[in-house]
Amino acid sequence: MANKKTTLRIDNEELHESSGFLSAQVFWCQSCRVPIITSPEQINGVNGKSVCPLCHSTTTFLSTDLRPVFPEERLLLELLLAHNQPLKYSECSVWALDSRYYIDGKMKSIPSKTFRTEDCDVLSALIKESEKNNKSKKVQACFDDFKNKFIAANKNRLNALISEAHAFIKKEAANYPEENIVLSFSGGKDSSVTADIVTKALGNPSLVHIFGNTTLEFPQTVEYAKRFKKNHPFAIFETSINEDQNFMDVCEDIGPPARIMRWCCSMFKTGPITRVLNSLYRNQQILTFYGIRRAESASRSKYNRVESGKESVKIQKQTVASPIIDWKDIDIWLYLLAENVDFNDAYRLGYDRVGCWCCPNNNQRAQFLSRIYMPENSKKWRDFLIRFAKRIGKPDPEEYVDSGAWKARQGGNGLAAADDVKIKFTNCTAEDHAKNYRLVRPFDDELVNMFVPFGTINRELGRKLLHEVLVLDVRTNVPIISLQPFTVDGFEHAVKIRTMNVADHDDLQRKIAYQIRKFNGCRKCLKCESVCKAGAISITAEGYHIDEKKCVHCKMCVNQSVLAMGCLMGKYLKTKEVR
Ligand code: SF4
Ligand code: SF4
Ligand code: SF4
Repeated sequence: MANKKTTLRIDNEELHESSGFLSAQVFWCQSCRVPIITSPEQINGVNGKSVCPLCHSTTTFLSTDLRPVFPEERLLLELLLAHNQPLKYSECSVWALDSRYYIDGKMKSIPSKTFRTEDCDVLSALIKESEKNNKSKKVQACFDDFKNKFIAANKNRLNALISEAHAFIKKEAANYPEENIVLSFSGGKDSSVTADIVTKALGNPSLVHIFGNTTLEFPQTVEYAKRFKKNHPFAIFETSINEDQNFMDVCEDIGPPARIMRWCCSMFKTGPITRVLNSLYRNQQILTFYGIRRAESASRSKYNRVESGKESVKIQKQTVASPIIDWKDIDIWLYLLAENVDFNDAYRLGYDRVGCWCCPNNNQRAQFLSRIYMPENSKKWRDFLIRFAKRIGKPDPEEYVDSGAWKARQGGNGLAAADDVKIKFTNCTAEDHAKNYRLVRPFDDELVNMFVPFGTINRELGRKLLHEVLVLDVRTNVPIISLQPFTVDGFEHAVKIRTMNVADHDDLQRKIAYQIRKFNGCRKCLKCESVCKAGAISITAEGYHIDEKKCVHCKMCVNQSVLAMGCLMGKYLKTKEVR
């Protein structure tokens, strides 16, 4: 008899807030051999068991979350766990969480050292040998059988998820014209679900999709994006890409990205996306639906479902809404498989996330997969990392790279570029509130333009013989900053900067130092473009430019809490002596 408690609540807001719904776990039906996503109210408190909605057998706890293992990944598993017996598990129901595999409900783990010690060239050759048999109709039919049972057994949950997400999407979208609604499309599974569910909820196939191509995408991601565009002919599909920078050249200059120094996210992802949004929407506010999920990381666990104007919103003109914020991995897969949504083929190989192939956030398992499926890129990247490790004086470069220690790198130790972001100055002995700042290149118009956020640039009122430029307060027209090319012992180039007619000279000089850091150290990461809501900042091959007509003097670009140290490079290239 069906257990009364198996009925999921589908009253939307209440359902979303219900901790039971969010903290569902994965149980196993040994009779159907599929996972059952089970919320706490479906669990019998006495014996901690639940009931399969399909066959009504008792189910038992399996895992906190799960993903399906597709035949391609299963083959690799058979080589690693079943001592090279291809197809051994082809009639089994195989699921996974990270490196823990559940084969017909029995757990087997791949020890992490396997990912470092296995010969990936040999594995790659063995996989190629067995690929044909693995693609047979019989193998596919077995996989489809379990897939269909999984969908049927969890259809109540799927309906509840869809119903709740649709209500949320409609409610948020009601505040915006549909042309100001954007779908962020990364090519990952969460963005596939989000694109599909938002399009269906709003019944509008013509929404704007923005694919942020970081240039470091898996080949499968690029293929998938092409396929998506072709299969959604009514969607407005824009690709953002930074073609002005070469990832490897920047790595040579400022070092590879590390877990807390992900400069490439701004340079290759949010920066180019901001540019596309600026060209489409100028100053209009937009609503972007993202596939962000709290389960993805500790920082994301603190996100609100709707965010606007906070630091977590990396592109300032948008309100971000996340319809699937509390979905589990297994919910994502339930949706994709049940709704027959096309997805990135990298997941079939066993990747559980598909960001950039060389991302410092990738785990050892992902790196291992890349050595098998992207051997040339992996080798090139490892060679670069070893060269880099030698350059910055690591005693055992190979161990530094292979142990993953490079991902924990902090600051700019050992890099020449680190000197550019150090603020060096002397206090002027002749004038109050004046400092002589070191410049890494001569005083020029680009430096003067850096002072637009503080007020109106005036070249007429300053002392001509000294080439002095003044910055006037925008409201009172009173001079607040004087800039003057200067000569200082020990600095090849310098500028004297005096503040006047202000209450807090130290605060203004601190912000001025941020602009000096930008002038000296900008690596064109595009963060400043993303920070400026007015679209006044543009960073091109010619340099950094602030449009005086567009700048509204909000000072966000010199705000420590928005842009620490005034420039991302300050943080990324910091060394002990930095001020
Ligand atoms: S490599 Fe990682 S940190 Fe860099 S852009 Fe890609 S996802 Fe972001
Ligand atoms: S962030 Fe504000 S102060 Fe800075 S350039 Fe943009 S509008 Fe001007
Ligand atoms: S000044 Fe710094 S933060 Fe701004 S774009 Fe340049 S490198 Fe990025």
